[in-house]
Amino acid sequence: MRKNIVAGNWKMNTTLQEGVGLAKDVNEALSKVNAACDVIICVPFTHLAPVNAVINPAKLGLGAENCADHKSGAYTGEVSASMVASTGASYVILGHSERRQYYGETAETLKEKVALALENNLTPIFCIGEVLEQRENGTYLEVVKAQIEDALFNLSAEDFSKLILAYEPVWAIGTGKTATDDQAQEMHAFIRGVIADKYGKEVADNTSILYGGSCKPSNARALFAKPDVDGGLIGGASLDAESFMGIVEAFN
Ligand code: PEP
Repeated sequence: MRKNIVAGNWKMNTTLQEGVGLAKDVNEALSKVNAACDVIICVPFTHLAPVNAVINPAKLGLGAENCADHKSGAYTGEVSASMVASTGASYVILGHSERRQYYGETAETLKEKVALALENNLTPIFCIGEVLEQRENGTYLEVVKAQIEDALFNLSAEDFSKLILAYEPVWAIGTGKTATDDQAQEMHAFIRGVIADKYGKEVADNTSILYGGSCKPSNARALFAKPDVDGGLIGGASLDAESFMGIVEAFN
């Protein structure tokens, strides 16, 4: 059966020293509770190896926030999937709306990134979600369906089963506006149906679909109670160990 997961996305926040301190705080807090979900932190590239050195991998997973769409070579400033894996990380966020919006990521580049992540045994946390205009003009379901089809439906069922999906309505990211639990459930159930139509019910039922967008301790419990919401991808609230743990504990 699919896993419940709470994953933090630190984005471009924290110095190395602050990040290692935050990772230690989360690790310490997790050592004192029996978390009823998998917990992951996705951190800047510079922080991966030092954070890996201070966390207990049995309790806290580690991921990057992106990887390159090429294997290696003359791509100044890029970080490859194999480099990410060599730090000890096991996950990578791909297709975050900020990457799509500010760095021009397309379905074509994302296909390459997903393939390279999988080749390097990294689990992609693949983000999809509509912008406000698409929510308001009623095209949000077809937009998200196309994002999944265009970047992921080249995968075999075996490879698709290795993914974690994150539905992140762009209008809810960092805005303080959260999708209601019913809006999240509608989309998550729809996504599961799209997966079932392509790969069958078993693959769909086993795919973890996280919600992301201004998720915090005060709204996490209601969101996670919905049958197709399998946890959260957490931005702002993951930068404070106490608020991140408040979301983790929404599963207890
Ligand atoms: C995100 O960017 O993945 C995210 C969910 O951000 P926030 O929680 O800050 O809205």
